[in-house]
This record gives sequence, structure tokens and C-alpha cells, in this order.
Amino acid sequence: MSATGPAGVHPDARREQLRASLAAVHGRIERACADAGRDPAEVTLVVVTKFFPASDVLLLHQLGVRSFGENRDQEAAEKFALVRQSVDAAGPAAEPPVLHFIGRLQGNKAAHVAHYADVVESLDRAKLVDGLAKGARRAGRPEGDLEVLLQVSLDGDTSRGGALPEDLAALAAAVEAQPALRLRGLMAVAPLGADPDDAFASLHHLARDLRERHPGASWLSAGMSGDLEAALRHGATHLRVGTAILGSRPSLL
Ligand SMILES: *Cc1c(COP(=O)(O)O)cnc(C)c1O
Repeated sequence: MSATGPAGVHPDARREQLRASLAAVHGRIERACADAGRDPAEVTLVVVTKFFPASDVLLLHQLGVRSFGENRDQEAAEKFALVRQSVDAAGPAAEPPVLHFIGRLQGNKAAHVAHYADVVESLDRAKLVDGLAKGARRAGRPEGDLEVLLQVSLDGDTSRGGALPEDLAALAAAVEAQPALRLRGLMAVAPLGADPDDAFASLHHLARDLRERHPGASWLSAGMSGDLEAALRHGATHLRVGTAILGSRPSLL
């Protein structure tokens, strides 16, 4: 993690880049909410900082971002240990960052992720529930402190992560049976090559079904850099935006 940030850009220049791209994304969110008759205040922007250094997270935090997304266990743990140290050092008034784990969860990593993630968005197999709950208890977290979203696959292909829609009810019940975990809703990625409006419309139906049985499961995480407008048309409460704010990631890593 270099002090200069990606590509050796000077911190002041990087701050200006991030300020401008963040403002542009907020502008897109405001316009999309106006078009959909929604209040932007009900939408949480989760800035996805995977592949980018802790210095970028700290600049974004200074620019007012509070929620961050990461998708790899070791990278997330190391980066956010640094970030939290720096934020704590800034004094008791500094609002802590909220870390969303959005990546594929491996069975042997679930307990570790439960030590540092505030929200796990990518729970897609019942097998992971015990590991997350065990990790949260071991970390001494209060009951219900680890918030969980169920990731659903919208095209029947679970190879990129996500449970099948027909498996959501059982998965939700498994989460509810663990006092350490708090079921907050659904997450999905629009399938490659599909119309995101169609995908997010069916996601919205699944979210409503889940909320009927689990009233606390009111979050819907959908929408990324390329399709956040479509997600907002279909009830997204959380957007996960990386590229549009931080720039493009190295393509093969
Ligand atoms: C990387 C990632 C994102 C961010 O995607 P961008 O297109 O860079 O905005 C969102 N959601 C998940 C699950 C991701 O892995």
C-alpha cells in the first residue's frame, strides 16, 4: 500500500479525482431517484474499494463515504485494520467505516470474515451460516451485530455465487435460527448479457416475498457502476459502486 496511491498519483490529485467521481455518482443517484419518485436519503452508497489501497479508503472517508465493499478475505482484513486504526487515531468524533463483505465466501473463511465485517452480503449456502455465527461469537460481538444479506442468482447459474430463488426460504430460516446473525435482505448481481431491468424486476419480487416472512429483511443490494439507475428503478436500497468512483481495476487478479 503505497503512500502515493494508484499509479503514483499524488494524494492531492487523487483526492480531487475521487471527489469529482464521487460527486458524479451522487448526481446519477439523485437523478435516478427523482425519475423513480424516490428519496435519495433512503439509498446507501457502498463504495467498492477492492484492489485499491487503504489510502484511497481514507480519502473517501474524509470525503464523507461511510460504507465500503471488499470481496477478498485477506485483502479486506489487512486493509481495514489499517483504515480503522487511522480513523480511531483521528479521535472519538470520527465516524467509523462500515465494511460490507461482498465476495464469494469459502467455508473455511466464513468465521474469519465474521471478525471484521459489519455486513456480509454474499451468504449463499446454508453451510456458511454456522461458520459466520461461530466467528461472530468468538469475536465477542453482541447478538444480531453481524448483518447478513442472502445473495441470489438471477439466472439459475450459481457458479458466480448466489443461491437459487427456491432455496432462499430455507437459507433465511437458517440465518434466523442464529442469534449472532441479523437477516437484513437480499443481494444480487445482474447476470452478464441480460437486461438489468428484467433481472432487477424479478429481484424486487423475491425481496418482497422475503420481507413478507421476515419484516426486518428490508435491504435490497443491487446495482453497480453500469446499472445503478436500473437498480434504483426496482427498489434497491444499497448500491455497490467501484469503477465509477475509483477507476478501473487491474483486469487479471
Ligand atoms: C466488484 C463488485 C462490484 C463493483 O462493480 P463496479 O462495476 O466496479 O461498480 C459490485 N458488486 C460486486 C459483488 C462486486 O464484486
